[in-house]
Amino acid sequence: MSDSRPGAEQRRNLFALSRADFDRALATFIDRPYRLNQIYLALHRRGVEDIHEMTELSLALRAELSRHFYVATPRITERQRSADGTCKYLLRLHDGATIEAVDIPSDGRRTLCISSQAGCALACTFCVTGYWGAGRDLSMGEILAQVRLINREAGTTPSSPAPNIVFMGMGEPLLNLQAVGEALEVLTPSTSWKRITVSTVGIIPAIETMATWRRRPNLAISLHAPDDQRRSQIMPINQTYPLAELLACLRRYPLERGRKITIEYLLIRHFNDSLEDADQTALLLRGLRAKVNLIPVNPDSVLDETMIPPDAATVERFKNRLNQRGLFTTVRQRRGDEVHGACGQLRAFGTKAHGVRARQEPGAKPVSEPR
Ligand code: SF4
Repeated sequence: MSDSRPGAEQRRNLFALSRADFDRALATFIDRPYRLNQIYLALHRRGVEDIHEMTELSLALRAELSRHFYVATPRITERQRSADGTCKYLLRLHDGATIEAVDIPSDGRRTLCISSQAGCALACTFCVTGYWGAGRDLSMGEILAQVRLINREAGTTPSSPAPNIVFMGMGEPLLNLQAVGEALEVLTPSTSWKRITVSTVGIIPAIETMATWRRRPNLAISLHAPDDQRRSQIMPINQTYPLAELLACLRRYPLERGRKITIEYLLIRHFNDSLEDADQTALLLRGLRAKVNLIPVNPDSVLDETMIPPDAATVERFKNRLNQRGLFTTVRQRRGDEVHGACGQLRAFGTKAHGVRARQEPGAKPVSEPR
C-alpha cells in the first residue's frame, strides 16, 4: 500500500501562518468557524506545540491534520541576566533565524521588549540591529511566542500582573504591520491596549493605517533630531518620510482622552544635545499631544565612535529646558547594559545571524513596504 502522506517538506508549519492563511489552509479540513478559532487559540494563547496535544479535536481529525501540517515554534537558546534583573533572551526560529527579546523588571511590574523582524534594513546609525542589516518579517505566531516563552521563564501565573509590552526590539514594527496587528488582537484582552506600545521611526502610511484601527496601542516615535539635515544623517528613513510630513501625520492621529504620543529623543554628545536643540524640538512639537522620553545613546563597538552620551548635567539641562517649554519630559533609565539589552543594542547576542549587512541607501523606499 502506498503512503499518501505529504513529505515533511510539503507539510506547512501551522504556527507560522497569518490568520487569513491559517483559515484558508484549514478550510478543506474544518468547516466550523468555532473549531478554527479553537485551534488558532490553542496554538497562540495556550502555546500547544504538537497537533496531537489538541485534545479538543477528535483523534481522526488530529491524524488528518498531522498529515498536512506540523507545529514548529521558536525556542529560547540563550539567556543573559544583568545585575539589575534585566534578562535578555536569544530565540531561534524554525528556519534558523535568530531574534532577541528583553525582560525588564521594574517596580513590581515587568516590561517585555520584543522584536518584530529578524534584523532591520533601515540602518539607523545609532542602532546595532540596523548595523547588521535586513532580516525577515516575523510571523504573528513568532511575535506572540516571545511573550509566551518569556512569561513561562519568569514563572508567570494567571494571577501575575500582565507585563507591559513594547515593540522596541529588533526591527521596525510598522514595516510588519499586518503580523503586529494580528498579534495585538491575540494579546488583548489579557493585556490592556494601554499597556502595549509600538515604537516606530515614523512610517507614515502605516501610521495612517493604525489611525483607522478601532483600538490602538500607545504610539512612540523615534525623533532623535530637531531638523531634517541631522535626522537624515542618523536615520536614512527621514529622506523618505521627512519631519514636516511626519509631524502633520501625528497631528491628525486620533488619541483617546488622556493619551499622548511618546517622542523618543536619543541624546548624542555635541550632536543634538544643546539648549538650542531643546528649543527647536519644543517648537517642532508645538500643539502635539506628546511627552518626551530622553535616551542617552548607548555606545557599542560596531557603531560610529561619535555615538557617545552627553554627561548627566547636560541631560538634566536638556530635560529641564523641555519641561520649561511645556513638554513633560523624562529620562529613560539605563537597563541591561552588561548584557547589551539596552536600547539600540539588540543583535542576536553579537552574532552576525541575519546575513549580509544591507544598509538602506538614503532616500530609498524601505525593503518591506507597509501593508
Ligand atoms: S532603530 Fe529601529 S528602525 Fe532603526 S535600524 Fe534599529 S531596529 Fe531598525
